[in-house]
Amino acid sequence: MLDIASNRPALPPEIARRRTFAIISHPDAGKTTLTEKFLLFGGAIQMAGQVRAKGEARRTRSDFMQMEKDRGISVSASAMSFDYKTFRFNLVDTPGHSDFSEDTYRTLTAVDAAVMVIDGAKGVESQTQKLFEVCRLRDLPILTFCNKMDRESRDTFEIIDEIQEMLAIDVTPASWPIGQGRDFIGCYDILRDRLELMDRADRNKVAESIEINGLDDPKLAQHVPAHLLEKLHEELEMARELLPALDPQAVLEGHMTPIWFGSAINSFGVKELMDGIGNYGPEPQVQSAEPRKISPEEPKVSGFVFKVQANMDPKHRDRVAFVRMASGHFKRGMKLTHVRTKKPMAVSNPVLFLASDRELADEAWAGDIIGIPNHGQLRIGDTLTEGEALRVTGIPSFAPELLQGVRAGDPMKAKHLEKALMQFAEEGAAKVFKPMIGSGFIVGVVGALQFEVLASRIELEYGLPVRFDGSQFTSARWVAGDKAAMDKFINANKQHIAHDHDGDVVYLTRLQWDIDRVIRDYPELKLTATKEMM
Ligand code: GDP
Repeated sequence: MLDIASNRPALPPEIARRRTFAIISHPDAGKTTLTEKFLLFGGAIQMAGQVRAKGEARRTRSDFMQMEKDRGISVSASAMSFDYKTFRFNLVDTPGHSDFSEDTYRTLTAVDAAVMVIDGAKGVESQTQKLFEVCRLRDLPILTFCNKMDRESRDTFEIIDEIQEMLAIDVTPASWPIGQGRDFIGCYDILRDRLELMDRADRNKVAESIEINGLDDPKLAQHVPAHLLEKLHEELEMARELLPALDPQAVLEGHMTPIWFGSAINSFGVKELMDGIGNYGPEPQVQSAEPRKISPEEPKVSGFVFKVQANMDPKHRDRVAFVRMASGHFKRGMKLTHVRTKKPMAVSNPVLFLASDRELADEAWAGDIIGIPNHGQLRIGDTLTEGEALRVTGIPSFAPELLQGVRAGDPMKAKHLEKALMQFAEEGAAKVFKPMIGSGFIVGVVGALQFEVLASRIELEYGLPVRFDGSQFTSARWVAGDKAAMDKFINANKQHIAHDHDGDVVYLTRLQWDIDRVIRDYPELKLTATKEMM
C-alpha cells in the first residue's frame, strides 16, 4: 500500500487530483523526450515523436523558430495538460537556456513542484544546479529522474552522493538500476517491491512489470542474471544503511527528493515517475498574495498571469496571457475583475493547452493553467478575481545585466519600433527604458542571446530591421521614494534617468560606485535591482 501524502486534506477532489509542475534540466539531459513520453502515457498523443514532429513543422515557418532550432534551445515556454490515472497533470515547459532564466523563474512561480532530469553519465550539470537553486528559493518539492540509464552511466551511489552534496538535499532511491550500460536490464522498484524490465526492442512500450515478493523471492533469479542479482542485493543492503527512507512529508517540504532511474527514450521508468508525481507530488498550494493569502479550496475564482506570449500564431497576431488558477472553479464566460485596472473582464475564449493543441477551455480548477487571448490588457503579475482586490505577490522582475541602445534601420519607423519594444517589455522578454535625454531606447536583458532573439522577432513580427549597439550604461536600478526627494534626484541626474514601460523611474549607470554614491547621498530613496511585477 502506498501512503499517499497530502498537505491539503480539505481540497475538493477535482483540485486534489491536480499536479502542476515543471521539468528542470540541463540542455540535452532528455527533457523533451521525457515530455513526449508523459504525453504518450497520458494518452494525449498516440505516438511518441509527435511532439517533436509537430514542433519541427511549426519551426520551419520562421527564421526565429529556425534560430531556436539551430541553437537547440526552446525560447518560449508553454503549458500542457493531460490525464494520468486519476490525476490531472499540468506540465509547464520552461525555457532551458540560461539566457532565459528570468522567464524560467517566473514560470516556476506558477507550479507546485519540479521534476529534475539529470543525465546518468553527467550527473548534476551547471544549468540543473541554477534551476534547482531557483526552486529552493520557493521550497518547491522536487522529484528526480536519472535518465539515459541504457547508456554507460556513473555508479548509482556516486550519482546520489553528487546530488546530496551539490544540491544539499536528501536523496532517497525510489528505484534501483540493475546492470550498467549495455548490461542494464531494468530497475528494482523499491517503493512497490517490483521488478521492472526494460524492452530495448520497442521504445514506446511500457516496461514489463513483474510482481515479486521482496528481494528473496526466487522469481528474481528467473529474470536477473546471477552476477547482477548478487550486486543488486549488495547495493540495496548498502542503500538501506546509508540512505534515508522515503519521507513523504520531507518531499513535500522540499528537503528530500526521491530519485527514479530510467531511460526516457526507451519509455523506461517513466510510468513509475508519473506514479510518483501523482502519489508524492503536491496538490495545488496556497498562493502568497496581498493583503491575504489565497487558498485553492476557496470557492471564488482567482488566478494570476505569469507569462505573456505574443504572436504565438503569426497569422493571428494575438497575445496569450498564461494564467495560473489559484482558487475556485472557473467556467467559460465568467466575468472576472482585472485587479490592477479594477475593470471587469469577460473571459469568453480561454484556452486550455491540451498536449500540443490549443482547445477552448470550458472550465478550470485551481492548479490549472489557462491561456487568455487579449490585446495587451493582461500583463505579467496581474491578478484576476471575482471582485476582491487581491494581488498575487512574488513574481519578480530582475534588473537587466546587459544594456544596449536600439535604433530602427529606417528612422521613419521609430514609432513602430516603440510599439514593438513595448510589446516585448510587457511580455517580459526584455526591459525597455526611455532615457529622459536624447532619443531612442535602451534595451536591457539578462543574457546576450536575448538581443538576437529580439532583433529577429522585431524583424519577423513587425517587418522592422533593427540595430542594437553598445550603450554607455551597464547597470539599471529602479528608484522609489517620496516625490520631493525623487524630483531633486532626477533633476540632478538627468543624464542617467530613464523610464521603464510602466513609467517607473530607473537610474542607469556604468559604475557600481555611482550606485553606492546615490545610496549614500539620497538616504530617503530606495534603489532596487528587482521590481515586483504588478
Ligand atoms: P533536452 O535538451 O533535455 O530536451 O533533451 P532531448 O530530449 O532532446 O534529448 C537529448 C538527446 O538525448 C536526444 O538525442 C535524445 O534522443 C537522447 N536521449 C533522450 N533520452 C535518452 C535515453 O534514455 N537514452 C539515450 N541513450 N538517449 C536519450
